[in-house]
Amino acid sequence: MISTVRGMKDIFGDEMSAWHYLETTFRSLSAAFGYAEFRTPLLEHTELFARGVGEGTDIVGKEMYTFADRGGDSLTLRPEMTAPIVRAAIEHNLLRNAPTTRLWYMGPLFRYERPQKGRYRQFHQYGAELIGSAHPEADVEIIELASEVLRALQLNNVTLELNTLGSPEARVEYRKALVEYLNRKADGLSADSKNRLIVNPLRILDSKDEADKAVVADAPVLLDFLDATSVNHFESVKAQLATAGISYTLNSRLVRGLDYYSHTVFEFTSPALGAQNTVCAGGRYDPLFAMLGGADVPAVGFSAGVERLLLILQQQDLQNTQVRPDVYICAFGEEARTPAHLIALRMRRNAFSVITDVQRRSPKAQLKDAARVNARYAVLIGEDELASGTAIIREMDSGTQSTVPITEIERAIAR
Ligand code: ATP
Ligand code: MG
Repeated sequence: MISTVRGMKDIFGDEMSAWHYLETTFRSLSAAFGYAEFRTPLLEHTELFARGVGEGTDIVGKEMYTFADRGGDSLTLRPEMTAPIVRAAIEHNLLRNAPTTRLWYMGPLFRYERPQKGRYRQFHQYGAELIGSAHPEADVEIIELASEVLRALQLNNVTLELNTLGSPEARVEYRKALVEYLNRKADGLSADSKNRLIVNPLRILDSKDEADKAVVADAPVLLDFLDATSVNHFESVKAQLATAGISYTLNSRLVRGLDYYSHTVFEFTSPALGAQNTVCAGGRYDPLFAMLGGADVPAVGFSAGVERLLLILQQQDLQNTQVRPDVYICAFGEEARTPAHLIALRMRRNAFSVITDVQRRSPKAQLKDAARVNARYAVLIGEDELASGTAIIREMDSGTQSTVPITEIERAIAR
């Protein structure tokens, strides 16, 4: 037997209804905030991520699916969406006509990680990018969109954690102080973090390792190194969130793994997820456009892990995501088969979802099948009904039946 690749999953059955429910929510809330969908290819030039995500990050260092194609070009299955979106915004000169560009996306990503609960090698993200504004209002709009999506999904116990990384200049000073402190305590760090000390020291701050946590507890705090502009920006974000009634907790250890962040960073976490508790993460990334060869363009965005949203939904109540067929048409006897087929076609053209029997089952077996697919109604057509031009409509949940002319079936079914 040939199975799926490790860390990759088929999506089908009841779970697909939940996916549709999530996708519908993403689509409608993105539209409510004025965001347009953007789709990029699954493959990009490796250089895009090497430059845009950064050589010192876990993603570029050890998680990418990279290969040479038959022409010898180095290509990578996209591990994240912000660099591709920024690449596209520069390539198509999107900002020329829309100085504020609002985009959302949803699709598969690929990272070579150790598979476990909430962590896969192919996973999906829904996300949004607000490009072109350096003002705190933009940070707030993005956080609001993420927050409204989570609210619409009625997820319990989701917490918004907030921090600022300040301007890149302020961070240089902080980085120096942090490295100095960590070098003194290097013996107490995990092997991973000893390596991070050289390539990406800030990342040590949000290490999950207990030994690292103990060292980090007394580390210098970035907030103390911020310039006035950075502080004002953050204060304004916090004030606007409070006004909008969006509660948050401050987390000075929240740094995010990628090189391109500046100022506001945030994560929505849920205890329902266990160790991988971040369901949605984002922040401002003002340096990225210039890093990828574009003009200086400020931007802010977030991405939510769809599988992690699904894990939370599954622990709550999936019932409301299940889609039921409207009608199962039962043809009792050979004579009824063609009329039943034509009624089904007519109802489908009238936007009802209709299932018919294609196994030539007995009447009893057809009704059993109607129950199995969870149809709302069964429409029964037998000899008597054919003679009188009627059909029996049975409401499956209650068992209530009524007889109506076959031309009136649609009208008789309350939608
Ligand atoms: P983590 O610390 O969990 O590895 P990350 O910082 O690598 O997260 P991002 O790159 O910010 O995550 O991705 C945003 C979101 O995408 C995460 O918060 C998570 O919900 C989801 N995500 C990231 N990696 C995976 C994965 N391998 N499998 C499933 N979901 C993932
Ligand atoms: Mg990761």
